[in-house]
Amino acid sequence: MKRVIALVDCNNFFVSCERLLKPELIGKAVCVLSNNDGCVVSRSNEAKRMGIQMGAPYFIAKNQFKKITFLSGNLPFYCEISKRVMAKLLDFTPDVEVYSIDEAFLDLTGLRKTFNSSYEEIIERIVKEIKEEIGIDVSIGLSYSKVLSKLACDKVKTLQSKNITDSKTYKIGFREIQKELQETLISEIWGVGKNTTALLKKYFIQTAYDFTRQEDIWIKKNLGKVGLELKQELLGNSINPVKSVSEAPKSISRSESFKEFQTNKNYIQNELNGHIHRVCRKLREKDLLTGCIGVMLRTKDFQVTDIKINLVNPVNTEFELIEHAKDMLDKLYKKGVIYRSVGFYALKLTSKAIRQMSIFESESISKKENLSSSLDKLEEKFGKGIIKIGG
Ligand SMILES: [Mg+2]
Repeated sequence: MKRVIALVDCNNFFVSCERLLKPELIGKAVCVLSNNDGCVVSRSNEAKRMGIQMGAPYFIAKNQFKKITFLSGNLPFYCEISKRVMAKLLDFTPDVEVYSIDEAFLDLTGLRKTFNSSYEEIIERIVKEIKEEIGIDVSIGLSYSKVLSKLACDKVKTLQSKNITDSKTYKIGFREIQKELQETLISEIWGVGKNTTALLKKYFIQTAYDFTRQEDIWIKKNLGKVGLELKQELLGNSINPVKSVSEAPKSISRSESFKEFQTNKNYIQNELNGHIHRVCRKLREKDLLTGCIGVMLRTKDFQVTDIKINLVNPVNTEFELIEHAKDMLDKLYKKGVIYRSVGFYALKLTSKAIRQMSIFESESISKKENLSSSLDKLEEKFGKGIIKIGG
């Protein structure tokens, strides 16, 4: 069945939040700065028009743009407003995927009857109610897949910034898909990076439309499964579903009996590391973080001991979890006892998107996540169990 998917994006989100507290800033050129006032992370339209770039270092920008008001970021407050926006979206449908602090995908399929209105009217209503009840302006792109709804949203934001439209919403319907794709460079499509763009350029593939004209066999050979999925998404067939918050699990755990009963701690540690990897993989698949982890040991006679700890910073990467789990196993393990299985579980799961504000985050976290997801990709390619993480 065809899906109807919307991308809701808060406009200049951090600046908009600041204006809730300081209405005198409305209509003025304002920028919000990252952690420790490092660089510009959010710009009002007025500031954008003055030419200041996203990511501009503050120590240069403050001299270059004397008429702009620069504000230190207030992340807890932005998170609070974000939660209100997301909660409001859940009033319309349970199928909300929080994609970042200021963006969410909604699956609206089948809601026309519920609201007794067209999809266009539903998204207009979402814009209106968020503005009235929370005070935040949002833009919404509407289409048949995540990739197309993202494109629709980018489109309306571009039109707004050029003062071509007052509209907050943009729809790409079936009749418009071809024209839109012809007008869009493949590099502008969500998820298409520099390497892919460079590769496609060699084959004279410039626009998103050119890309969709390629044979599946060719795409598969050059870009793999991801490429084929992208083609389908561009044609309006939803491949990547909206991963709704309501379907998120409460916990994820893995355990397995040993091939033979065990007394060897190294062996148990290795098995445990394997479970941690599988739990982390699942967390990453679902874009979740864990705030509490546990290790469980079961003896030959089915006696269970377990231990759990809370984490200061929620994570979904193997590295720190393996460190913690090593200490936990040290506490649980008793020499001479014969064990039958070991297990690992993750609790207090939260959506990664809420914390996904890379600009505010220490670089090290992002790097670890990148490494972990490339491990996932390796596994996809070479099969499960290819990776052993040293314990
Ligand atoms: Mg935004």
